[in-house]
Amino acid sequence: MQAEIITIGTELLLGQIVDTNAAFLARKLAEIGFNVFRKTTVGDNTARIAESMQSALSCCDVVIASGGLGPTVDDKTREAAAAATGRDLILEPELLLDIQRFFNQRGSPLSENNKRQAYLPRGATAIRNPVGTAPAFIVPVRKKFLICLPGVPAELNYLTENAVMRFLQEEFRIQTIIKTRTLKTAGMGESAIDRQIGDLEESTNPTVGLAAHLGSVDIRISAKANSPDDARAMLDQMETRIRQRLGEMIYGTDDDTIEGVVVQEIRQRRLKLALLETNTGGELSARLTSAPGGYEVVDQATVMSLKRAGFFFAGKHARDNWNVSEKTAISLSRALQQKHDVPIGIAVVGDEDAGMGPYSDPTGNTYAGLALGSDVICKHIPMGGLSRTSRSRIINATLDKLRRSLKGLDL
Ligand code: ATP
Ligand code: MG
Repeated sequence: MQAEIITIGTELLLGQIVDTNAAFLARKLAEIGFNVFRKTTVGDNTARIAESMQSALSCCDVVIASGGLGPTVDDKTREAAAAATGRDLILEPELLLDIQRFFNQRGSPLSENNKRQAYLPRGATAIRNPVGTAPAFIVPVRKKFLICLPGVPAELNYLTENAVMRFLQEEFRIQTIIKTRTLKTAGMGESAIDRQIGDLEESTNPTVGLAAHLGSVDIRISAKANSPDDARAMLDQMETRIRQRLGEMIYGTDDDTIEGVVVQEIRQRRLKLALLETNTGGELSARLTSAPGGYEVVDQATVMSLKRAGFFFAGKHARDNWNVSEKTAISLSRALQQKHDVPIGIAVVGDEDAGMGPYSDPTGNTYAGLALGSDVICKHIPMGGLSRTSRSRIINATLDKLRRSLKGLDL
């Protein structure tokens, strides 16, 4: 079973947006056993889109196109799909009603442009789109299928997961399924993890692979089986083996985030925190408050230069003694606890004008002081907060230290 993905949009060719749709579709197709033969990107031009579709249909069983289904003049996919398959476009009254309903609910008038979205190539089946206006559609072409999906990633993901996958599994009588699970780790580099579980990475079913991010590493397990239950059992077994080796390095699975896990730990204990960032620009507080329940645990968050923080917390006379050091981070975390009368004080103290050097070599220092009740600890992170990369690393390291400390580990 061969498939091709065509992503449509001049913005993609100009490098103005990153083609995440192609990556998402490729993963989904692989999960059900399709061999993705080629990925093509083409601009908003009817003839060129049609040509790509024809070429893809000549060698693949399934062609999935993304984008260009909107109401505007640069949305050419409908016309191109009709041209590529030698059909005309016809009005689908039910789709028109859907679109009319969508606009009525928003109290805005339906324009002629929007009506264009109710036209499909003759013989196509519509995929209703409850999360947007552009209906998607499938054109059957001699036992092959051209599937056109909207470009907006949230809509494309929704329609793929809720309609396209099931359609392909039924149409191609696909029995085997591939399920994946991601174990999320922090506080350990990719090569250190590799040393611990290298032998498991040789496994062929399930497979185990690593993906490194900034200050965290994902371990992805994929199992191929004839039923979801069998696949799940295989994933469970491999997960247990990995957890036996890595233990508390694993902070969560799949969609878990480290800030989400930390917020949950703090909420369970009904605690609150006060936070000061001197070189991460509020990104730590943004991440904590973006997690569900974040505002319940963040009592106070401040972004301030270290100079100003010294003055604010210790008065004029102490200002000169406040530097980037473990001592300052600890004192500030204690000061935060007392000033805001909360059990947890976090002070991220570090160089503002250092981060990552020209060859991604870290420069500068950051100290995260964590005062938890009567305990106080400090995490040294050997980089400053100037670059995006180093900020993410600093924040992930701080959150991981906090997570472990909360669990009574490694205090
Ligand atoms: P709309 O009704 O919004 O016009 P559409 O189906 O016509 O939907 P496009 O106009 O091609 O879709 O794209 C809409 C937006 O979706 C783009 O501006 C872009 O932000 C995003 N997008 C489109 N294609 C991709 C892609 N391949 N990867 C990631 N994002 C994409
Ligand atoms: Mg569009």
